[in-house]
Amino acid sequence: MESNHQSAWVTRSLHSVWHPCTQMQHHETVPLIPVRRGQGAWLYDHEGRRYLDAISSWWVNLFGHANPRINAALKDQLDTLEHAMLAGFTHEPVIELSEKLSALTGHVLGHSFYASDGASAVEIALKMSFHAWRNHGKTDKQEFVCLQGSYHGETIGALAVTDVALFKDAYGPLLRAAQTVLSPDARQARDGETAADVARRAAADVERLFQQKADRIAAIIIEPLVQCATGMAMHDPLYLQLVRALCDRYAVHLILDEIAVGCGRTGTFFACEQAGIWPDFVCLSKGISGGYLPLSLVMTRDDIYQAFYSSDVRRGFLHSHSYTGNPLACRAALATLQIFADDDVLAANRIKAATLTAALQPLAQHRQVRNFRQQGMIWAFDAIDATPDFSRRFFATAVEHELLMRPIGSTVYLMPPYILDDAEIAGLAASTLTVFDQTMAG
Ligand SMILES: *Cc1c(COP(=O)(O)O)cnc(C)c1O
Repeated sequence: MESNHQSAWVTRSLHSVWHPCTQMQHHETVPLIPVRRGQGAWLYDHEGRRYLDAISSWWVNLFGHANPRINAALKDQLDTLEHAMLAGFTHEPVIELSEKLSALTGHVLGHSFYASDGASAVEIALKMSFHAWRNHGKTDKQEFVCLQGSYHGETIGALAVTDVALFKDAYGPLLRAAQTVLSPDARQARDGETAADVARRAAADVERLFQQKADRIAAIIIEPLVQCATGMAMHDPLYLQLVRALCDRYAVHLILDEIAVGCGRTGTFFACEQAGIWPDFVCLSKGISGGYLPLSLVMTRDDIYQAFYSSDVRRGFLHSHSYTGNPLACRAALATLQIFADDDVLAANRIKAATLTAALQPLAQHRQVRNFRQQGMIWAFDAIDATPDFSRRFFATAVEHELLMRPIGSTVYLMPPYILDDAEIAGLAASTLTVFDQTMAG
């Protein structure tokens, strides 16, 4: 009876829901799991089976499902103000959130512009950069630079600065070409090279491009420290320092996409703090609402804001989304920031990270594994000689072991919520090893 219930949900979903980032035919063999409820790090299906959400439901969940503190804040907000438009009106949650985020940047990025999803934040940063230069009379600055393997979202503008062939190639004719520069991915170190050497080499590529045509470039967009969607490619923070200096020297904006790496994921609240630099624009989304509600924003400097401040309406930034600054989403974000402060989350995560890294040593040493790497609350390794369907088979094997994990190609990664206890950490490491061995054995 229960089981029929579960398969009925699967059938109905496959008939009516077009699932994201999915070749729907694969669901003839890959399981689709109807989630009935979530609690802490676990998702439960209709048969009561549970799955440890080891990838934070696509990197958004920070403090677990059904978090009591975030739930309480949202229930209160629901009875106060669910939504109001943000043009001509403002409200307490959006003001408090903007002030708190500004403070986290030492008020360097003191102006926050809101949207709902990550791709929209990227669109906003690109448009703002171009428009800021235009308002300064630099109308030739129309091009954008991105990194090899970059991922900044799926809308037409964001896809143009994305370099993942699988997502981009079909839409090539629709996209405005961007300049692509070398990735500082530390795995590209040649014999005797350090990660810092790779960073210097990649920064030199940026300088070559800026020397040629900085007068036509508005901005370079970078996902700092970890290029997540391309397979958790990690780089030395030196790269960000070098590019920041080049952007200053050649008058190019630096956009940092911290949609995945922000909110403590790499060990500091903003990834760029580890390089000791601030960009001209930072994009946040995913974890900022604790994984509860769609919310994204772009934070920028006062000089950029001032470039739009005028009696002329057309010099203003006339961009909007219907749900811009939604009070419920902002309130979830405020509750999330409160947990960071109350629980000293960044310090607690350092201990959790060390424990999980130690527990994953059998995989780090595994003869079928290379490039085991870790940054903050992100772990990744590459399977040697993985078959083309490795990722799908790993996912299917993982669900049999109470795990939600989706490798990227042959890269297995963990991006768990920040609330795992010692038993969950030990279980996660042990199950990942079992699932890896079973998947590799075919
Ligand atoms: C997920 C992601 C995006 C896009 O965010 P959406 O909310 O999926 O549109 C952009 N950049 C990075 C680095 C991401 O990880």
